[in-house]
Amino acid sequence: MNRITAICRNFLWGASSDYKNPPNISWGICCMPKDEGGLGIKEAKTWNKALLGKYVWWLANKKDHLWVRWVNHVYMKNSPWTDYKAPSDCSWSWKKIVFIMSLFKQAYVNHHWLNSSHEYTVKAGYDWLRGSHPKVTWYHVFWNRLNLPKSSFICWEYMHKRLPTRDRLLRMGCPIDPVCSTCCQADETHSHLVCECPYAIECFRILHCRLHVNFRVQDLISWFSTVRRISKFQKRFIGACHVALIYWIWRVRNEAKMNAVLRRPEVLVLQVIHDLKARVLTLNSAPFVPRDYAWLQNV
Ligand SMILES: [Zn+2]
Repeated sequence: MNRITAICRNFLWGASSDYKNPPNISWGICCMPKDEGGLGIKEAKTWNKALLGKYVWWLANKKDHLWVRWVNHVYMKNSPWTDYKAPSDCSWSWKKIVFIMSLFKQAYVNHHWLNSSHEYTVKAGYDWLRGSHPKVTWYHVFWNRLNLPKSSFICWEYMHKRLPTRDRLLRMGCPIDPVCSTCCQADETHSHLVCECPYAIECFRILHCRLHVNFRVQDLISWFSTVRRISKFQKRFIGACHVALIYWIWRVRNEAKMNAVLRRPEVLVLQVIHDLKARVLTLNSAPFVPRDYAWLQNV
């Protein structure tokens, strides 16, 4: 199970099953649901326990199943499953199932799962084992269907403040110039890169002119959750433009660092809008309402 986890983690951060790059974000966070700040990857060990929870459900409900009859005959001998202890000379696999039994006892007994009319599902078991966590406010903006996955991924790292910005690289001990390679005016941090860098400010100013909106980029999340005067499609498109632009600001920063070239902000914004329009037309299987279509033509 550890090997499976390592392959998944290495593939996510290095596009290979072998370890190439240290992860920017812990595997625990990656395995959280997207609305709790993760990537929605299933954590293999917990998922395996939830799968084994199905056996416990069979035993607890005395299901008429060959395996249950066999376990009762060989091991449990009709003793209550909640008090059962595995004998020391039993098999490794039975000890594991008894361990899972003790794990799920709390859910079945204290949480009244057994009194419920619902059947056990692996998802319910997995969610219970994970526990509940607070939701993140930026989920709807950064995991919008209109976003390209690569843009969402960079923004996801940005929201966790885990992009390898110069201030982070310095803290990790890399001998590097702390000054922003895009503007060469201030130290590069996460907030500088997107909210304070003159280059990013100019990009968002041009974008906002094209989209006819007016708010600070650091207020994007609150704008997204409170704006009412525009349609759902327009709101999603505006959110997707911001996500794509944050991705491109990061790309431009890397190009400036590696190749000492800087794209003009107006060219970058036009490219972002053009690409997103093309994506919308590809994705949108349902016809536009005339108001949204006219709005998109004018962007
Ligand atoms: Zn800058």
